[in-house]
Amino acid sequence: ATPTALLVGTGRGSQLGILIRGPQVLEQTRQVDTIVLDKTGTITQGAMTVTTVSAAPGVTDDELLRIAAGAEWGSEHPVARAIASAHGGAAPVAESFASHAGFGVQAVLEGSLVVAGRPEWVQDQWSVHLPIRFRGEAEVLEAAGGTVIAVARDGDFLGIVAVSDTVKPTSADAIARFRALGLRPVLLTGDNAGAAEHIAGLVGIDEVRAGVTPAGKLDAIRQLQSSGRVVAMVGDGVNDAAALAAADLGIAMGGGTDAAIAASDVTIASGDLLVVADAIRLSRRTLGTIK
Ligand code: ADP
Ligand code: MG
Repeated sequence: ATPTALLVGTGRGSQLGILIRGPQVLEQTRQVDTIVLDKTGTITQGAMTVTTVSAAPGVTDDELLRIAAGAEWGSEHPVARAIASAHGGAAPVAESFASHAGFGVQAVLEGSLVVAGRPEWVQDQWSVHLPIRFRGEAEVLEAAGGTVIAVARDGDFLGIVAVSDTVKPTSADAIARFRALGLRPVLLTGDNAGAAEHIAGLVGIDEVRAGVTPAGKLDAIRQLQSSGRVVAMVGDGVNDAAALAAADLGIAMGGGTDAAIAASDVTIASGDLLVVADAIRLSRRTLGTIK
């Protein structure tokens, strides 16, 4: 391949908002046969809204939201933004804060340790007892496509908050384009199986891996590669960075986190999956004319 022709390809790419790290990237693109997609912020808008607030006995829904909003204040996750806007008012200021990518957050608020995140994580990692009634409620919400966050303070369960997200308008068309380009789509998410299957059904993906930790996302890419697949990964989060770096072709969504963009070969400025399909088609055509 002549460098000049490859650069023409990357120049056209930039007109479409396809930012390519270097001309060698186009060569990687041509080989790809599998496209792994993150859910939140990649297939979906990543603009979540709170659908259900369900506080434990002795706690009001408002108090639950207030505590959750305080704990989530330092997080950039869509879950955190959803909780902040549902709460609206002033939240307690955290004395300390730590975010656990793919799981949730912990913060010290008003002298108490508050954790908010995946129900299993809150239960297993923080030894919080989740009453059976709430586990049942969480299962129902998840089966309907919701993401459930459990909240606890000093080891006591305070309740659950469910959020949901909508699919980007072009995602289903883009999945169909990937198939037409001979790519096998795989949905890979840290979210629960119910929410994952719900979104996969809406966009036409039949291969789903849910409840996957950030380290698990990396393993999933390596597994596909060792079975002989050449893998593109599309993602936007801190939790996707290791997988994006390991993929044969890492593609970051423009609105995503700096970590995802830094780990990727290509950034799609608009965050539109149809443009990802354009990028793959463009690189194949560009290389076709060079040969
Ligand atoms: P995805 O792979 O869909 O982008 P993540 O890996 O970011 O999802 O998150 C996986 C799960 O971890 C979320 O569905 C949520 O349950 C939980 N989680 C992640 N970040 C937070 C947070 N800031 N607050 C509460 N829960 C969180
Ligand atoms: Mg994401």
